[in-house]
Amino acid sequence: MRLGGRELIRSWAVPVLLAGVALAFDAADRRVPFSVLASGPLDETAHLATGALGLLALSCFIGAPRRFYVAGLIASVAIDLDHIPLYLGLLGNQGQRPVTHSLTTVLVVVVAAVLFPRHRAVLAGAATGLLIHFARDIAEGPPGVRMLWPLSNTAWTASLWWFLGMIITFTLVRLVLVTAGLPRTRVRLFLPLVPAGHAGSVSPQGPVRPIRPERTSRQPR
Ligand SMILES: [Zn+2]
Repeated sequence: MRLGGRELIRSWAVPVLLAGVALAFDAADRRVPFSVLASGPLDETAHLATGALGLLALSCFIGAPRRFYVAGLIASVAIDLDHIPLYLGLLGNQGQRPVTHSLTTVLVVVVAAVLFPRHRAVLAGAATGLLIHFARDIAEGPPGVRMLWPLSNTAWTASLWWFLGMIITFTLVRLVLVTAGLPRTRVRLFLPLVPAGHAGSVSPQGPVRPIRPERTSRQPR
């Protein structure tokens, strides 16, 4: 579906605004000397905008319920609560991010999604939000993120270009695909089957094409 003028402006405004917020707050965070009160709001705003932009880009390819995206957004900032014991001096190494900043946390959430199908959409959204969060943390430079803990204690770091690449990629994917009306169909995830003729599901990109229901009354999510 190709978009009309006003729809096009609206569809461009949100990702461009999110990209601007992510870049501006990230730049400010890099300039301000670190303190929890000053850096925290700058850092988390950049994480939130990056998470929202990444999820918007992802929504071009998948159709998922609203709770998937809400969980992704929350996880994209809430994982930094694991710094609190560190700041209080209760545990951890001040020179490193907590080990919960690692793929182990993502793995735990994915295993939980497998074990608890009723909450699969929320948990999958949370895992996605965590990955986007860690991708930006890596680009913040030292101390980096010990992604492979406990297998390896090596902290992964990347330059600012990594973060710029993320933002540019997310933004371009969203703008180009939405403008072109591509892809024609999206992969349907965690959605109940609904009768033909009804609007399918809610997602940042609009309804997903409904699929004719099977005869079972309850459908897996
Ligand atoms: Zn973090």
